[in-house]
Amino acid sequence: MHHRLAHAGLLDIAAKLDRGERLDLSEGVRLFESPDLLAVGWLANREREKRHGARTFYNYNIRLEATNVCVASCLFCAFARLKPGDEGAYTMSLEQAWDKLRQRAHQPLTEIHVVNGLHPDLPFDYYTELLRGFKRIRPDIHLKCFTAVEIAFFADLYRITDEQVMRELMAAGLDSLPGGGSFRIWLLSGWNASGMNAWKPQVSSCSARARSMWSTRSSAVSICPYSIVTFDRMPSRWAVR
Ligand code: SF4
Repeated sequence: MHHRLAHAGLLDIAAKLDRGERLDLSEGVRLFESPDLLAVGWLANREREKRHGARTFYNYNIRLEATNVCVASCLFCAFARLKPGDEGAYTMSLEQAWDKLRQRAHQPLTEIHVVNGLHPDLPFDYYTELLRGFKRIRPDIHLKCFTAVEIAFFADLYRITDEQVMRELMAAGLDSLPGGGSFRIWLLSGWNASGMNAWKPQVSSCSARARSMWSTRSSAVSICPYSIVTFDRMPSRWAVR
């Protein structure tokens, strides 16, 4: 592996990791841009095992999409239907969604994972009631619901701020956001105020929304390390950690 790391130009990074030193942004970018994924993966796994040994953690979740109606038209998406009434379009009633959870009463679920389409007509309390109902049925279950894309969509649709969206969803039981969506900046766990400030000159206005969500998150809710929140492709940001 020494030869491979040398060939990939990653020996200095490996040495830094050996010394237990934190990588900086430029080193993260080099890893991100390295064409030798196996070398990068080997380094990542070595760090993982150094910190956590052979332990691996899983949760037991139910995946639920309450509606596939979505005003967006992402090219890769075979799930969404543009309008209610289109062939294959569906929107669950709250009872139907809650029933999905009730039907799994015999299973040791730890989490509900909800990602929906961007429905143009549902009222905001559809979502808050959805969460409240889940918590009524299983008070201990973790609610990982709505990508950052959906949060931003809710804010636009209901004309409230991202922070208000987050706070109302959290009050209804939201515990975390899943990753994914079509936004592009990754908010990686471990960011702190200085990290954010150092990054600010490059940050587009849209990422103010990311910051808003992130600051709300710090008070109670967690955002998946892979949540992605803006429009501007900058791979270097993906490396911030
Ligand atoms: S936002 Fe999500 S559900 Fe809507 S079209 Fe894009 S990938 Fe599909």
